[in-house]
Formats: sequence, C-alpha cells, structure tokens
Amino acid sequence: MTNQIKKLVIANRGEIALRILRACRQLEILTVALYSEADRDSKYVRLADESVCIGPPPAAESYLNIASVIAAAEVTQANAVHPGYGFLSENADFAEQVEQSGFIFVGPSAKTIRTMGDKISAIAAMRAAGVPCVPGSDGPIPEGTDEIIKIARKIGFPLMIKASGGGGGKGMRVVRREAELLESIHATRKEAQAAFGNGVLYMERFLEKPRHVEFQVLADAFGNAVHLGDRDCSMQRRHQKVIEEAPAPGVTDQQRNEMGWCCVQACMQIGYRGVGTFEFLYQGGEFFFIEMNTRIQVEHPVTEMITGIDLLQEQIRVADGEKLRFAQADIHFRGHAFECRINAEDPKTFLPCPGRISQYHMAGGPGVRVDSHVYSNYTVPPYYDSMIGKIITHGMHRSEALTRMNGALQEMVIDGIKTNLPLHRELVQDSKFIKGGCDIHYLEKTLLKNTSRKKLKK
Ligand code: ADP
Repeated sequence: MTNQIKKLVIANRGEIALRILRACRQLEILTVALYSEADRDSKYVRLADESVCIGPPPAAESYLNIASVIAAAEVTQANAVHPGYGFLSENADFAEQVEQSGFIFVGPSAKTIRTMGDKISAIAAMRAAGVPCVPGSDGPIPEGTDEIIKIARKIGFPLMIKASGGGGGKGMRVVRREAELLESIHATRKEAQAAFGNGVLYMERFLEKPRHVEFQVLADAFGNAVHLGDRDCSMQRRHQKVIEEAPAPGVTDQQRNEMGWCCVQACMQIGYRGVGTFEFLYQGGEFFFIEMNTRIQVEHPVTEMITGIDLLQEQIRVADGEKLRFAQADIHFRGHAFECRINAEDPKTFLPCPGRISQYHMAGGPGVRVDSHVYSNYTVPPYYDSMIGKIITHGMHRSEALTRMNGALQEMVIDGIKTNLPLHRELVQDSKFIKGGCDIHYLEKTLLKNTSRKKLKK
C-alpha cells in the first residue's frame, strides 16, 4: 500500500457499511462510522474505531446531507471518504466537495461521475469508445413533432422513452404504437422533471426479451484497467435485481473476453479510476450498453467468489494511489456463484416489513457467505431500503452453487419480521431458473402466474 489513507469515513449504512469496515480492517485503515439516530445500535457502528451521529432518521437529513458528512470527516480528522452504493455514491457534487475539502474520495473523478450520471452523455462517451449501444435517438428528443416522428420511425416500435437523468428504474416508458408517442413523451417528461429535476429525454429501441448482463471493471489512476468478468442480473422485479449470478449462463469465453476487453478499452479512453460496472442488455447473442455505474455494486460478491479478488480492498487501494496489482492474464474465473438479496418485505405483496428481528440464525458451510449487518433483537428501521442482507454461494459448477444456495436458504432463520426468504426458496426450485438464461421479464411473469394460480385454487 502507498498508505496515504489512514482513517476512512464510511458514508453509508447497512450491510455495505459493514463490508467497507471489513475491508479497512484487512488494510489496517482506521474507520469512522456515520449513523443517523435510527441506526445508533447498528453492528458496524459498534465495530468501527470511531462513530459520529450525523442527523435524524430521514436520509435527506443524515446520509444525504453533504455538509454533515464532510463535517464528520473534519471533526474526526479522517482523510478519506467511502460512499458505498446508493445515497451519495453517484453524486458528482459530493465527490467534488469531498476532494475540495482535502479528502480522498473512494471513487472516480467528479467529472466522470457527472458524465456517466447523465445517460445521454454516457451513451455518447461509450459510442465514442466503441462500446455497442442500443440503437436510439443519439441525443435528446428534439422539439419539433415531425422530427420526433422521423427519429421514432427510424428506431422502430416498440421503443422506450427514457429520462437522461433517470435512475432506480424510474423515468422510463415503453411506446408500442406511433399514435401514443407524443402523449407518452409529455407524460414521461413531467415525471422526469418532478423526480429528477431534469426533463431531458431520449429514445431507444425496446428490446423485447433481453437479459441483463454486466461487466465488472477495475482501473487505477495510472491508465491501467482490467475486467473481472460478467454477471447475469436478469431476475428482476420492477427493474430491481433480486438474484444475481456469475458468470452469465451461455456467454462464451470468447464473448466474455471480447466484451470485457471492450469495457477495459472504454475505461482507458475515459480515464476511469476505481471499480465500475458496464450494464448491458443481452439479446440474440448481442450486447447493448445501457448505463455505467461508477461505484461498488450490491452484487459485487458473486464476482469476488469466482475471481478470489476482494473488490473493496482493491477499490480502496487504487483510491489510495496504488497501481493495479494484477494484469488481465492474472485473473482467472473459477466456478460459479449466486447471490440472493434478502429484503424485509412481505413475500407476496412486497410491502416493506420493518420491525424487530426476534431470532436470527445465519446459514453456513462450504461455499456459503452471508453479508448482513443484522442480528437477533436488531430492529429494521422503516426509513431506508428494505434490503437486510445477501446470501452468496459458490460452487465448482453452476449446479453445485445452486444446490448450496438451496441449502443455505433452508438453513437461514429470520423470525419476527416478514422477509422474502420464502420467495427465494421457491425461485431456486424453478425449472427455468435452474436451467439458466431467463430474460428480464421472467420473474414478474412467474409471480403473476403464481398469484393467479393461487386465486384459482381458492
Ligand atoms: P436505471 O438507471 O433506472 O436502473 P436502466 O437504463 O439501467 O435504468 O434500465 C433499467 C432496466 O430497464 C434494465 O435492467 C432493463 O430491465 C430495462 N430496460 C432499460 N432499457 C431497455 C430497453 N431499451 N429495452 C428493454 N428493456 C430496457
């Protein structure tokens, strides 16, 4: 290590706060946990070397409060800030202010975050770097009706209207017929303006049955970059990932190498630094770029399992100014891994179910990893995302990893609150999922079928 980072502020909560803390311990970096009044009793707060309360429970007044986060770093004399995922992790103004205040931001430059945070400029940058994108409007939707229709016809129907500033699966609309086009643009613009304060929209072809396949990259500040393979995140509900796996079933080694190399090239061209993810839709054996995430992702553990590389440690090392410790030829993929996201929610209605966990027993055994900040008697607060942890399994083959997931899900006990564990237990027994390669609509269709079947039985 170059050992610039001595004390790091964890500007996040939940399982990722704990994950960052664990990486810092390995690197012998002191940690400062930030917490809202609702997270006072959290495990990572107790485990951190120091902790600072940064405000009341609502995220806007605590985890999203830039001034409080920076003040906490100053008070504790830390010299680095890790944003985790969500909250301020992709906020370019935050990254800028952290650096201007004299701290190391664990992530890419504010300029890169800004470019990638705007989908139109991200797509333009990717096109320029030779990354295949979804055929689309190549820029904002113009003002004139005739021009809009001309572009739409060229793309073809169905098409998708997307907000350039959108995220979290919001600000998107499918248009199936030309007659609906102008009205849909109007409605999406209103939504985007209200949700993201940015009404700029673009259009792209709507892919009917794609899979979501993404590539993990890691780059240092000296122009070196590698890819760590792909992940399939097609099991989604409302554009939110539920189960992830690595590698993506059916993607050949040649395709993996080609697309991975393409992402590496793009990183070098845009001067990328840190960990990042290139998200693609994958249909008919072709990849189409949709967006880049400039932070660590929830599903990073499946990549760690098949590469043996600790992504959090490497992310912190490159932020510290260290050169990449390995070349592409040193990265080997071994076996297969799955991740199930455990949410505190009703497994049928999907409504969040915060509350006190009366009993918590963690799954274990060979190839099983649980990343979670919860414990018996922990109370899940109602203010934040409902994800309370992740079960990750690894095996020499896909079927072994899946069998281990099945076992781990049976073993796992979380009593006192409702969780989606019963849903996961069903999904890992689903014949199409077992076969692999389901598209992004499969989970929702299956859920719909199961509800109507249950209604029929009544
Ligand atoms: P966000 O930033 O809101 O997550 P994305 O652009 O990553 O938005 O898209 C989220 C999800 O929406 C994708 O994973 C996919 O399921 C669906 N999607 C996005 N673009 C398209 C498209 N052109 N055709 C079909 N589905 C799409």
